[in-house]
Amino acid sequence: MLVRSLVFRLKDPLPNEAKFLMEDFRLAVNNTIRFGMQTGATSRNSLTKLAYKDFRKEHPNMYSQHLVSAFEVAGSILKNHRRRLRKGFPSQVPFVRRLFMKAENQAYKLDRENGIIDLPIMAGLHIHLRLDMSDYHRRYLDDESLSLGSLTLLPDKVIVTIRKHAPKPYAPASVLSFDTNERSLDGVLAKDDNIEIVVKAEFPEVSVIQDRHHQRRRRLQKKKSHDRRTSRRLCAREGMREHHRIDYRMHEVANAVLSFAEEQKSMIVLEDLTGIKPHKGKKLNRRISMWPRRKLHQIIEYKAAWQGIPIIKVDPRYSSRKCQMCGRIQDSRKGTEFVCGCGWHVDRHINASINLLQSAASEKAAGGLRFDPGAFQHDVVMVLCGPGRVVRPEPNGTSGIRVMA
Ligand SMILES: [Zn+2]
Repeated sequence: MLVRSLVFRLKDPLPNEAKFLMEDFRLAVNNTIRFGMQTGATSRNSLTKLAYKDFRKEHPNMYSQHLVSAFEVAGSILKNHRRRLRKGFPSQVPFVRRLFMKAENQAYKLDRENGIIDLPIMAGLHIHLRLDMSDYHRRYLDDESLSLGSLTLLPDKVIVTIRKHAPKPYAPASVLSFDTNERSLDGVLAKDDNIEIVVKAEFPEVSVIQDRHHQRRRRLQKKKSHDRRTSRRLCAREGMREHHRIDYRMHEVANAVLSFAEEQKSMIVLEDLTGIKPHKGKKLNRRISMWPRRKLHQIIEYKAAWQGIPIIKVDPRYSSRKCQMCGRIQDSRKGTEFVCGCGWHVDRHINASINLLQSAASEKAAGGLRFDPGAFQHDVVMVLCGPGRVVRPEPNGTSGIRVMA
């Protein structure tokens, strides 16, 4: 089951009943957490068994489904807390400050056509929330194959999760393999035993964004060194901004790659980045942090599953150092050109992506693909996604296919 969340703004100010409901919900969650800490219970069932009667007395009017949902939220908070303790991370006794409430799909109704939520507060009292619907929202709500999941109500917005069964991936007619680099995805498209074209999706501004935010954080730390709390808060805010901006860009890159893959009915091959550690040295570590690349993979994998695009991940060992013609492994990975004693030379990233393609082929997941790596024009690059703007990226700024010679 695949899940996606839709965020809606509300057309009207939140009614007071909803505010009271959120306050009651938060109270119920916090009470349950305290209760769970005292008794050691974590599962929703045991928390419900232990706590339901007492809470019913304290909140006699609360819709019982909401109360059960509060137990569930408390249970998962407790579980996370215990997991952190088990792993040796510091974790304070959890306490929910944020005002919110969560309802499972049987505890609310959504009029998908008109965008109106019917939320019961207590017996005989329902509130109606009018959602601000955009075309984006309609596209999902109009799709009958998607079912509704839980609803989260916050003071200024509503989050509705939608679910669907993962579609069966299509049978691939080609293979698109990518080497993931700090500033780009570099790949090749192989079809009918031939490598057809070199493709590229660029995101050079991501490391610029990382760099800029890093410097800003350093400045903040210096300036606010007398006030660690403010400094930490401001740095956290900087961090969130950085994440949002990189996230946004990664979504653009993923969309460009996936729409090309779908057009070519390709299977996507990516390297398995888990377990890859950045090089030693603090300065370098930050500069080539693995985070944006892992994030990009997550987005591509998730969207591919949603759209039914087949995808596999292969072990990237030696992919950047092995000659894909003769199989010799080089010591160094310096320089932009891969030059081998056998006479083969090609862009280093392209060499790596062909190696990944070969690994995928030998894992037979690619359907016994054979190809002749020597026979392709590697000076023609198809740019799936060009560099974005370093300043705040705008929608529909950069995608589109452009062929560079
Ligand atoms: Zn060679």
